[in-house]
Amino acid sequence: MKPILHQNNLVNIEVIELLPFFPTPYPDELLYSMFARYHEWSQNPEEMHTYFDLFGNRATPTVHFPNRLNDFCKRLSTDTLLTPEKLINEHTIFPVYRPFLSKERSEKVHQLMMSSKSANILAVFGLTAIKICPYLRYCPTCVQKDEHQYGEAYWHREHQIYPIRVCPRDKTILVESNVHASSKINGKKLLTLQNYLQQHPYISAIETSDNAIEYQISVDISWLLQNYNHQLNINDLYYRYVEELKALGLANSKGTVTRKELFYQFKETYSEEFLNRYSCNLQHSRKYTWLDSMIKKHMNRFVIPIRHVLLIRFLGYWLSQFFSKKDHDYLPYGSPPYPCLNIASPHYGEELIDSYNSIDSGNRKIKTGIFACQSCGFVYAKYSNGNREKSEFDYVHTYGTLWEDKLLELRRNGHTIKEICDLLSTSESTVYRRLGMVKDRPVNRSENFLIKRDEIRSKWLSKLTNANEETINQMRAVLHYEYSWLRKYDQHWLENNSAPAQRYIRNEKIRREYKWEEIDQQLVTEIPAVVNEILNDNFNFVRVTKEAIGRKINKIHYITVQLDKLPKTKAVVELSLETIEDYHVRKISGIAQNMREREEKVTASKLISKTIKNKKHLTERIQRIVKYEVQKSLFDTEQLILEVF
Ligand SMILES: [Zn+2]
Ligand SMILES: [Zn+2]
Repeated sequence: MKPILHQNNLVNIEVIELLPFFPTPYPDELLYSMFARYHEWSQNPEEMHTYFDLFGNRATPTVHFPNRLNDFCKRLSTDTLLTPEKLINEHTIFPVYRPFLSKERSEKVHQLMMSSKSANILAVFGLTAIKICPYLRYCPTCVQKDEHQYGEAYWHREHQIYPIRVCPRDKTILVESNVHASSKINGKKLLTLQNYLQQHPYISAIETSDNAIEYQISVDISWLLQNYNHQLNINDLYYRYVEELKALGLANSKGTVTRKELFYQFKETYSEEFLNRYSCNLQHSRKYTWLDSMIKKHMNRFVIPIRHVLLIRFLGYWLSQFFSKKDHDYLPYGSPPYPCLNIASPHYGEELIDSYNSIDSGNRKIKTGIFACQSCGFVYAKYSNGNREKSEFDYVHTYGTLWEDKLLELRRNGHTIKEICDLLSTSESTVYRRLGMVKDRPVNRSENFLIKRDEIRSKWLSKLTNANEETINQMRAVLHYEYSWLRKYDQHWLENNSAPAQRYIRNEKIRREYKWEEIDQQLVTEIPAVVNEILNDNFNFVRVTKEAIGRKINKIHYITVQLDKLPKTKAVVELSLETIEDYHVRKISGIAQNMREREEKVTASKLISKTIKNKKHLTERIQRIVKYEVQKSLFDTEQLILEVF
């Protein structure tokens, strides 16, 4: 009898198969560990099948920064409490990294972890594989505690933070397993800690650290894992570092750090041996060290978490203390830039003021911030204890010509004093006083001023449009008078109407010389997507080789001939390559799946003849997979018949 089969006409609707079960996460359990426990319970013969269950394709997420979390959560039963956010915050190590990235970069990483797009997340950080733990690690003391409390040991997040080597719970020195945790894309093993320990019973005695700083640092890092709800990012931290260095006398009031003294004191605090052990040494020969990256605002280079912890401890804080300080302690007037609050100016409310001067107010605890707009000459003042909005000030320090011209203009046009008060939102006494002070100025000055300004502006603009890449410095030489005038009276307009400065153009040239670095950076983000495209192509099976990757990105010579010039790309490519056996396993499963979809009978001989060309490739593993696929097909058909009748 021929079984009656369902017809599925809705080809475009993605059918998602829910997982029949998923293990409940333990506290601080690594997501990888949960996947490994699922793998064990499911009794799937290969990791590949488990990844297919979990994500609907064979792409392997990385251990430290797994992606496809949306895909995964869609496969959990509807009453699950797990969401992509919860997984990222409570079951990956990303919370340790987040505060040390800019807001944009951390959002990008967050999105990549949720999305099904393949990308090299470490490349977004600017990190190479060396800066994460290459193997999973565990704490023998926690193993005993977990076995007692939960009946099994599991992989903890806390134990996977590079380069921490002590357990924050019990000071035990962590033990490195031989389970790969690097960003290997293809064919990662899923092994539970319990299973690993059965295969590798540990004999060595439990060792604990007697180094107090080492232990405190691991506690600090672990604090970040538990307290992921703060909103701080690298820009806030940079600001705080500089303010703290000012308080220690290691930076001047403008925020320039006394580098030599800082380095000297830093090395007094931490021994060279200690810094070396944590890959945090400060070599003399190098022009820029990691410490420089942390005190130079626009370096924009990612610095690994432990280095921030070292600096914060140097500044005299535990991480938790430093993070719970209020912004108001550092930024009494909010973060820069600040608005011009000259109501007579067309740019009122625009944030044109980059910094302020802090002066004594007569009271030791209260400072006065002086905010000057370079564009219109208006200067206002705020008290540091005022807790005011950015759009409010305590008093006007200087009104400036633009405001005074407006006052005269309103008066000339016949407005009453009361109307002027409303229009300039000021008091009658101020209006009388100011009018008294400016009444001797020639009445038509503001008109003359405007005529002159327009003349100079148009002269400047005509030169600018003819200039063709001429720089502002060259323009200055030709139009010396106009330039000085505009700089003095019309600076904001001048800034918006200038050719790019010389400095900028020079940087462009320098950057072009480092072409390989650029190409490397570009390719390293492209490769994972290309590899996954090859891995997920179920019709045209191609083994992942250098040539295959090169052909796919249309740059075969980069991947085959020039690869040594592209170190990051090289690392990712080499980790992605498939062995012949891996390739055969993937092809057999793919073909079997296609046959099931076409409702064709899956037999061992068909699978082997379509895949294996050479008898020596018919390994034990291949035979096991063939058997599994044949059985799976039988099972699916029986299920279908049962459903129909
Ligand atoms: Zn422990
Ligand atoms: Zn202004």
